[in-house]
Amino acid sequence: MNNDIEKVLYTQEQIDQRIDELAATLSAKYHDEFPVIVPVMTGAMMFASELMKRLNFKLNIDYVDVSSYEDSSESSGKVRLLRDLSHDVSGRPVLMIEDIIDTGHTLEFLNKLFASRGAKSVEICSLLDKPERREAPVKIDYLGFTVPNEFIVGYGLDYNGLYRNLPYVGVLKRSVYEK
Ligand code: 5GP
Ligand code: MG
Repeated sequence: MNNDIEKVLYTQEQIDQRIDELAATLSAKYHDEFPVIVPVMTGAMMFASELMKRLNFKLNIDYVDVSSYEDSSESSGKVRLLRDLSHDVSGRPVLMIEDIIDTGHTLEFLNKLFASRGAKSVEICSLLDKPERREAPVKIDYLGFTVPNEFIVGYGLDYNGLYRNLPYVGVLKRSVYEK
């Protein structure tokens, strides 16, 4: 598995340290807010669980699942909701957790959806940002790291279901997906 990685961008230690900082910022902001935390499955799972362990205030955990990639390394631009929230977010602050913001279509779609349901606020916390490929405007309120325009795997991010369990973030070798 590690042999398929071109280079490591962020190590487990660097990610841990950044998550500590993000958790401190979020705790200052949300301590009296009782938010609904909404990780976007499946990529955000690892980041969300590490982050939420460090959030020392009352919150609810929910999740959504969307599809946009359909087993390729290029986004299709179409977002489909595969699993909806089980919480009513009307009047509640919503904090979405993402693994990476690429074109921005996924988060723009979810942002509008929760706003239309009367959420008190909708904010985004993403482990990674790939700004070069943005097509839809997205404001990332809390960000781990910016990454170059390459195909990233690890720490929750997959290629065809693989590499999610890598404890670091890296660039996948082109030879893996160009064959
Ligand atoms: P967007 O809608 O912003 O284009 O893409 C969001 C989703 O696309 C992310 O949640 C992630 O699942 C997937 N994605 C975007 N860029 C990458 C990447 O470099 N690697 C992987 N594994 N997934 C990506
Ligand atoms: Mg995702």
